[in-house]
Amino acid sequence: MGLSRSSVGKGAAATAKALREKDTDRIVALAGNPNVGKSTLFNALTGLKQHTGNWTGKTVSCASGRCKTGERDYLFVDLPGCYSLSARSAEEMVARDCLYFDDIDRAVIVCDASCLERNLHLALQVMEVKEETALCVNLMDEASRHGIAVDGQALEARLGIPVTTMTARKGKEALALTDALEGRIDGSFTLRYSDAIEAYIADVSSVIIGNGLSRRQARLVALRLLDSDDAFTERLMSHYGISQEIKSELTCIATDFLARHFPPAEERSSRELAGDALSARLSAAAKHMATSVTRKTKGKGDGRGLDRLLIGRLTAFPFMLLLLFLVLWLTVKGANVPSAWLSSLFAWLEGIVSRGLTAIGSPAWFTSLLCEGVLRVVGWVVSVMLPPMAIFFPLFTLLEDVGYLPRVAFNLDRCFKHCAACGKQALTMCMGMGCNAAGVVGCRIIDSPRERLIAILTNSFMPCNGRFPMLIAIISLFFAASGGASALLLAGIILLAVVMTLGVSRLLSQTVLKGVPSSFTLELPPYRTPQVGQILVRSLLDRTLFVLVRAVAVAAPTGLVIWLLANLSAGGQPLLSLLSGFLDPLGELMGLDGVILLGFLLGLPANEIVIPVILMCYTAGGGLTDYHSLTELKNILVANGWTAVTAVNMLLFTVFHWPCSTTILTIKKETGSLKQTLAAILIPTVIGISLCVLVNIVSLLW
Ligand code: GDP
Repeated sequence: MGLSRSSVGKGAAATAKALREKDTDRIVALAGNPNVGKSTLFNALTGLKQHTGNWTGKTVSCASGRCKTGERDYLFVDLPGCYSLSARSAEEMVARDCLYFDDIDRAVIVCDASCLERNLHLALQVMEVKEETALCVNLMDEASRHGIAVDGQALEARLGIPVTTMTARKGKEALALTDALEGRIDGSFTLRYSDAIEAYIADVSSVIIGNGLSRRQARLVALRLLDSDDAFTERLMSHYGISQEIKSELTCIATDFLARHFPPAEERSSRELAGDALSARLSAAAKHMATSVTRKTKGKGDGRGLDRLLIGRLTAFPFMLLLLFLVLWLTVKGANVPSAWLSSLFAWLEGIVSRGLTAIGSPAWFTSLLCEGVLRVVGWVVSVMLPPMAIFFPLFTLLEDVGYLPRVAFNLDRCFKHCAACGKQALTMCMGMGCNAAGVVGCRIIDSPRERLIAILTNSFMPCNGRFPMLIAIISLFFAASGGASALLLAGIILLAVVMTLGVSRLLSQTVLKGVPSSFTLELPPYRTPQVGQILVRSLLDRTLFVLVRAVAVAAPTGLVIWLLANLSAGGQPLLSLLSGFLDPLGELMGLDGVILLGFLLGLPANEIVIPVILMCYTAGGGLTDYHSLTELKNILVANGWTAVTAVNMLLFTVFHWPCSTTILTIKKETGSLKQTLAAILIPTVIGISLCVLVNIVSLLW
């Protein structure tokens, strides 16, 4: 079978349906518990790059992609992970709606071989909804390391659906799933409930089976009338084309049955009690089935020893701080040399372009605009940003893949609870350290709308990768010559951002966003051996290049704008001086100056261009001077009045100011509210301005 893949990008199942090109195309939904390898499988099959990582909840929206085989195309939809279809969380709701209402041809339940019982619970639920279901038992390598063997054939025989076992990380094995998709479904398996419930199902079925519904559909309606809310059952019955009259009749049968068999007790409604009974039956069946097809022998440890160190009461925080320091130290230390190389490379390139342009007779202004305006800004962005990102992103992804990030959230959970916020906010903060826009989208993992909003409003406190290099540059210029001291200071700044996040979260939850913290179970994933090759490719190509391309795309036109502002004048004064002069009073109050504030304003599209803009403004012609060494850079800044106080305030304002435009647009999209978006802009800005003014006043009084 020849296999080729093509991407159709992100979108829900409805989009996938719209993309059905031929009658032979098959739409396949990948469902399963979180962290069982659905996205890994999806990526292997479609060639796409859905985010994968060793923690629960990172897939918060559906993605779809195409996989072409010789015979037909499969359109895969990667659903958010869920433990059941009872729709208690946003993820469960998305998965449930897709499986119940979308026009999918097959559902594939991806399971973790090491904890089959829990995974089969969902599988049995899905099988009740969709006859065309296949099972994929993934993570066989990990299970075998733990001494667990799963008999796929026995499971297939018991369930009557195609079952395939695999290690999705090995791409070839993942591709075998398409065979299972063509496998036979004998439809022999039906989960049977208690006699009373079965008799009730028969009653309901006798009313609707004659109306064009299959036995399975009638059974499903009967079950959901017992445990789901009115809105959902109404939607389900309408979906099956059941008339209003029959709907009322069915509702009466269900209400009568619930009243007789599940009378409300101890503050629990009939439906909740019926739901418990159905769920208990599913669990018992899943347990029985898992036990009968799983064999256990003695395997390797499960990482509990390591957990005693990483989440232990006394060791967790020191270890977290140590790791933070180590990652930053490697980033700062490792970035120095390649930064210098890249900067020389760009200087050389600029020389060649400049000489070339002069040789072909290009006007001096054009050469200056291109070389001093565009090329130097791009050169700065690449040489200062690329090396730290190329080190930080892989290290960060490594921690994510090993399974450390959720442990950070676990350690910080108590602090967040104390602030009436959600512990999962720590995970969204970690994502924000890569990119705040990604962090804001990641807030979808928080179920409570109140807590999600707190996390969104405070996400931009975490310095993203556009701001890291700026922080590193200022620290190295003004405060610390050695990598160790720079890393320590940088760690201090991140801690300040964390403390501020906690403080503002607490303030918000005590004032405008009052409420009690919701309880949630944060699942600690098993430690997994990271895939170093994959990590490098993923973090360098997907993340680093993405950020860099965006920065360069913004830097080049901004360089041009600055050059124009510096060279066009009004009333005998360059426009640039007019603008910075206007901002000077506020800048000086904050211990900065108008040029710096202008840099931040022009850096709205991407923070990484703030320093180049400032440097260009300081240099007379509006072109960035050569910056072959950090000392030269420092000289320019000092000549323009920078002191240690300016540098401190610059650090503070870098961390606390308005989010970049991409993040602002993302916040607007996620909250759907202009007021909340405005709050997300104002909160960090007001904090930043206040802190700078405070530092400035203290330094003046000193
Ligand atoms: P999802 O939440 O179900 O989409 O899971 P992901 O695809 O993000 O995978 C979760 C973690 O499990 C990632 O760290 C993957 O690299 C890892 N993983 C996925 N499949 C396998 C596998 O077959 N074997 C091993 N050892 N790890 C896997």
